Amino acid sequence: MVLPFSRNPLFSSDELREDDAGIQKLRSHKDALFLAFFEYDPPITESSELFWIPWDVVQLVCENPDGAIFLGLEDDHSPRFAIDIGESLEHWENVSRHRFEPVRSVAAKLADSQTSIVAQARSILKWIADHRFCSRCGSGNSVLFGGYRLQCANLACGTLHFPRIDPVVIMMVVSRDNSKCLLGRSHDYPERIIAPLAGFMEPGESIEDAVNREVREEVGISCTDIEFWGNQPWPFPSSLMLGCFATAVTDQINLNHAEMAFADWFTRSQLEKIFYDTAGDMVFPDSISISYHMMRAWMMDDV
Ligand SMILES: [Zn+2]
Repeated sequence: MVLPFSRNPLFSSDELREDDAGIQKLRSHKDALFLAFFEYDPPITESSELFWIPWDVVQLVCENPDGAIFLGLEDDHSPRFAIDIGESLEHWENVSRHRFEPVRSVAAKLADSQTSIVAQARSILKWIADHRFCSRCGSGNSVLFGGYRLQCANLACGTLHFPRIDPVVIMMVVSRDNSKCLLGRSHDYPERIIAPLAGFMEPGESIEDAVNREVREEVGISCTDIEFWGNQPWPFPSSLMLGCFATAVTDQINLNHAEMAFADWFTRSQLEKIFYDTAGDMVFPDSISISYHMMRAWMMDDV
């Protein structure tokens, strides 16, 4: 199954990215296209496709055209870039009627391959914007590798910084007889949503360690038979969601009230009712998320 934000169709490599002169050439290539972002949101057309602009338009609407990052090459070798247009929409509105839309709503409308390009571009643009200074010595960073490396401009330091990815484990915990699954809502989730437990991985942990720690922390239950199910880039700003199924050794929930608003066991028929009654007290998470797809797969006994 292909999840939103997955299966990026663009090709890139270190060989292409380390050739700075080559990237400048690609930027002014007649077939080069740029995806502009405003506050990390892309523009889409009325027919729900990404709206790409050529280099001459980039120079009209973007505060810093040289800040374009290289995404990769299309199948026909035409180059694709992304760029932050800056703080004002004034120039954009002079040349385009297409609106910038929040990535979460865009993702539900676009083809999956297009959502993966949005995820790639958004995560890298945000990483560069948030890492203007070297975390080792505090000097300014320079952008290299078409946006995929930052290097400290202080020659005595020169530390290379690599794009950050934050892995998150998402656990569909099921009872020993697989007749019910454990779902909950942490305090920072929107009202009504129920979802598998989830949490950031910590340094030194395997995926299985993280699953066990998070489930014990949140509901006081240990797990066995932890199996990887699927994964999804999640560009808010740059997580990698690692979906796992796990079997609980006990049904007894000991809720951590500091972290969780609620957790309970649900049978397949209970989940079906929730799935179809979208006006009810509980709803599935956003359909662009791996959590939604894991719940649906278990509900349909398709795991
Ligand atoms: Zn430094």
